[in-house]
Amino acid sequence: MADVSRISARVAAITPSATLAVDARAKALRAAGEDVIVFAAGEPDFPSPAHVVEAAAEACRDPRNHRYTPAPGLPELRQAVADKTRRDSGLEVTASQVLVTNGGKHAIYIAFATLLDPGDEVLLPAPYWTTYPEPIALCGARAVVVPTGVDSGFKVTVEQLEEAITPRTKALVFVSPSNPSGAVYSPEQVEAIGRWAAERGIWVLTDEIYEHLTYDDHRFSSMPVLVPELGERCVIVNGVAKTYAMTGWRVGWMIGPLDVVAAGAGLQSHATSNVANVSQRAALAAVTGGLDDVVRMREAFDRRRLRMFELLANLPGVTCLRPEGAFYAFPSFEGVLGREIGGRQVDTTLELAEVVLEEAKVAMVPGEAFASPGYARLSFALGDDDLEEGMARLAKLLV
Ligand code: GLU
Repeated sequence: MADVSRISARVAAITPSATLAVDARAKALRAAGEDVIVFAAGEPDFPSPAHVVEAAAEACRDPRNHRYTPAPGLPELRQAVADKTRRDSGLEVTASQVLVTNGGKHAIYIAFATLLDPGDEVLLPAPYWTTYPEPIALCGARAVVVPTGVDSGFKVTVEQLEEAITPRTKALVFVSPSNPSGAVYSPEQVEAIGRWAAERGIWVLTDEIYEHLTYDDHRFSSMPVLVPELGERCVIVNGVAKTYAMTGWRVGWMIGPLDVVAAGAGLQSHATSNVANVSQRAALAAVTGGLDDVVRMREAFDRRRLRMFELLANLPGVTCLRPEGAFYAFPSFEGVLGREIGGRQVDTTLELAEVVLEEAKVAMVPGEAFASPGYARLSFALGDDDLEEGMARLAKLLV
């Protein structure tokens, strides 16, 4: 009899999310009474804004919200996302171009499943967020990794993309502000890459989840705004998680051409139906509210960013670019590898993250999770005191 695997080859090939794995491990240690400082998952430490929570509590009491909404989302939320997009990035879209999804991650899945066929290639600049390659592979397509380094500030160039493109290339993944590198592309760079994609006739999936989190004089710019001719081949992914400290509510969205959104909505109607109605009401309150809470949180992230950068720069053997956006520092630990740390030989950042968690009780995500071994990602979306304590423990272990 044939040896039939119990798990499909497609799903067996999936690597579980490293960011969530490190986060879960750290939280489990904490639950077991360990005093762990978590620089792992990118999750703001703030509670969701009070008016958002209030809207959700009210929604719970209204039986209308105990029912299904249309699969692509509450009509008023789709409209509000269209309005918010015009307000924040300047892109004109209609409500029917918005598909409300179970977080940004689900928008990425729907977008790739809607666009990719087996054998297609997707250009994926690295370091990249650990999730992108998995839905690409699940579709039978192939992620073509385009590495970037510190010299370019972790920003991919048109020349690199031109070298990587083949007749099978269907799409490019473009993320700015970037997770994990914290890089923010200038408007000129965004426009150059967008024009190149438009000329080459490939799709762009652009993840705008960190649009409000930029620092110093770096500013977010939306590719389809700078390159309108890309509109018919561009999918935007976004959500309320990072902007409004709403990671657990699971509300994101995808914006795209009508045919793609309609097809994606058809898929969603079979996969998950609508996003939890109460969460949609909470998201509606978030995106129709002002940006005051966002400004307040960004100020705190900015303060923590500068402090973490300063403390990282003081660590012998560690080098780091100053994060320009998002809430991640992405230092190189190359200079501390190849020796004993915490009584153990440490040759890779995978091993380093392990030792740091075990010995210093500090959780960080090794660069291997983002196709950049030698680096590690530290989120500065945690409280100021925890940041100080975590960095002090790291320093103590490494010196
Ligand atoms: N996007 C965040 C991160 O990169 C949340 C965790 C996840 O979904 O990967 O840490």
